Amino acid sequence: MRRTKRTYRPYRTGKRRNMKPRLFIALAATLGVGLAGYLAICTALTDTPAAPPAERISLSAPAGISGVSFEAPPKASPASGTQPDKRALRQESYIVDFDAIPLEYTRLPFYIPENSLLYAEFSQSRPDLDPEAVVWMVNAFVHVPFYSEIQVNYSPNPLLITPAFRLPYDFAPTALVPVNHDDCPHLATPETVAAFREMRYSARAAGFNLSVVSGHRTSQRQLRLWNNGGRRDGRIARPYHSEHQTGRALDFWGPGGRGLMDSNSPVGRWAAANAHHYGFIVRYRAEATHITGYIYEPWHFTYVGLEISLYMHNNNILSLEEFVGRNPDLR
Ligand SMILES: [Zn+2]
Repeated sequence: MRRTKRTYRPYRTGKRRNMKPRLFIALAATLGVGLAGYLAICTALTDTPAAPPAERISLSAPAGISGVSFEAPPKASPASGTQPDKRALRQESYIVDFDAIPLEYTRLPFYIPENSLLYAEFSQSRPDLDPEAVVWMVNAFVHVPFYSEIQVNYSPNPLLITPAFRLPYDFAPTALVPVNHDDCPHLATPETVAAFREMRYSARAAGFNLSVVSGHRTSQRQLRLWNNGGRRDGRIARPYHSEHQTGRALDFWGPGGRGLMDSNSPVGRWAAANAHHYGFIVRYRAEATHITGYIYEPWHFTYVGLEISLYMHNNNILSLEEFVGRNPDLR
């Protein structure tokens, strides 16, 4: 267990009750006084540590971005198929005075008690955000600099893979099938391919041709892309941080196979306007670059399933980060 020392600014009175210091004076006191006793009790009562610190990897050292380190799985990598308890992974050594947390935070259905101090810190650094935004952004870990604090997503069918959420080093999609019947070399998960074929069928009926330039990528392929300059151009993910490794992301060619699909072409406009009917989303939208960390990619579509794609469309949710931040158990 780790003890974190935090200081908070003096309390300011005001109409708005907020994550402000009054509660954190109580909280700090709880931390200070209660931690020693709590640690003693924990040590006495448990055989195993509550939080596995090995799951948090800091890559701030220059060696971490050399690319070489991605080749070798770390010793701490769990055996294939094991899925540690997500809540245990999220658990930090926080002791929080839950009675002192404002209702506007705790009443949110996606509020995670273990994240309370993170919400508090983030809300202080971003007073422009309302509690909902604070909570979903922290839940999706978009509040930390990209690749600075990395969580492992152990879901067998991970929804959220980002600079902050990576795949386990032993991840492999359960099954991959060819995107096309012809000799197109691209692979994707069966659900992704089935949805793509439906979408392509409708596109043809509307007079457009959808064709895939990139589907599933292995970690080795992703590493080569990253090392070939991808780390600089802001649109290539690190290995294990790429949606293409999940087999659920497809990049589309532009009209006539010239370049990547762009948003101003008729086929690009059709795809962006209709993808949600087939379970796809435009994953890296122009309006969400500050959330996703990627430039606008009108060619990159991610299969998330019809329920989620329709929900995001109908509720104007612009990023998967926001959707998962509001539904953290689905990640
Ligand atoms: Zn892509």
